[in-house]
Amino acid sequence: MKRDEILAWLLEENPDRLETLWSLADGVRRGHAGDSVHIRGLIEFSNYCRSNCHYCGMRSGRRSLARYRMTQDEILDSAREAMARGYGTVVMQSGEDPHLDVDGLAGVIERIKRETPLAVTLSLGERAPQELARLREAGADRYYLRFETSDRHLWKQIHPSGKNAVSHRLDLLPLIKKLGYETGSGIMVGIPGQTWDSLVDDIEWFRRLDLDMIGCGPFVPHPETPSGRECDDRVLSNPSPTQVLNTNLVTCKVMALTRLVCPDVNIPSTTALATLDQEDGYRLGLQRGANVLMVNLTPLKYRRLYEIYPEKAGIGELPQPQRERVDSLLAGLGRTAGEGTGASRNFEARRPAIASLQRGDLCQHCRK
Ligand code: SAM
Repeated sequence: MKRDEILAWLLEENPDRLETLWSLADGVRRGHAGDSVHIRGLIEFSNYCRSNCHYCGMRSGRRSLARYRMTQDEILDSAREAMARGYGTVVMQSGEDPHLDVDGLAGVIERIKRETPLAVTLSLGERAPQELARLREAGADRYYLRFETSDRHLWKQIHPSGKNAVSHRLDLLPLIKKLGYETGSGIMVGIPGQTWDSLVDDIEWFRRLDLDMIGCGPFVPHPETPSGRECDDRVLSNPSPTQVLNTNLVTCKVMALTRLVCPDVNIPSTTALATLDQEDGYRLGLQRGANVLMVNLTPLKYRRLYEIYPEKAGIGELPQPQRERVDSLLAGLGRTAGEGTGASRNFEARRPAIASLQRGDLCQHCRK
């Protein structure tokens, strides 16, 4: 699909024509990813963060937020819960925790891999190459690192410079892939300052990076962040014509176009979609390109503290009602819960090359 065509779809407002986009994306999703929906159990194991991203409620500058770090036993209990509920993957997510005990985390991953059939996805933000290699060697299967926006000017505006400055993530993703991780990235839709043109670039970057998983969610303003203070409600106020809107409609267009441009990837119907539309967010995502759902398995006592943005969907939901909600959602769509670990077709095609991945390569990074 050419740039102009992507841009035209992003700006399309005619509901009848948009039905065509949804149905094209749904057809490609069915043909390439099938009717199974892979369910991932999310464990938000630490909300400590060294970064001070302008949009995120867990930014280091937010002193009022109580911080927590789950113990190794607590993480293992959540992983066992995922297995007991029949999920195939755990996603271990945290802030960019400066005191993350990488050896301890490697030990937890080794135990999960030894004691369960689960795939392990890591989402820890930017880590040193030797840490990424160490965790991969411990058995982590996947790494998820959103590049948020490919617009380097905007990136600089929303990520403070200085000691803990984050580097541009587009530069780190190739290394993650080289280490043999099934590699995921994605963006936020509607960050203040994001333009339609840069959104087209983002979709083109998805294709260029040859990703295995792509997650997109609307930017949800947090009132205690600089980006959040630019919005007086859940949507941006008085946006300029070049400003991307932080709505579910635009996010679904991005997801549908992503499915058309990268047919073999896994695409989650994200929590942010369900946060803006509790009723229909997950369902619409699954009907417009997505084939993955996340359920939150973080112990309830910590969940509220993982406050990326307020009123996150599913914040108080226990594992049993959660499973029932997911089953009923899938039944209503005529879809089924995926079996096994649910790797993407894109990754399956690369797997033989990765299997022969020189262990030396990993070790070389470990030694650095
Ligand atoms: N520390 C890891 C990282 O930086 O990748 C994982 C945690 S981070 C909080 C996970 C994702 O949350 C980010 O990649 C970003 O896209 C998303 N996020 C942060 N603030 C958000 C907001 N206000 N609205 C929507 N998504 C947000």
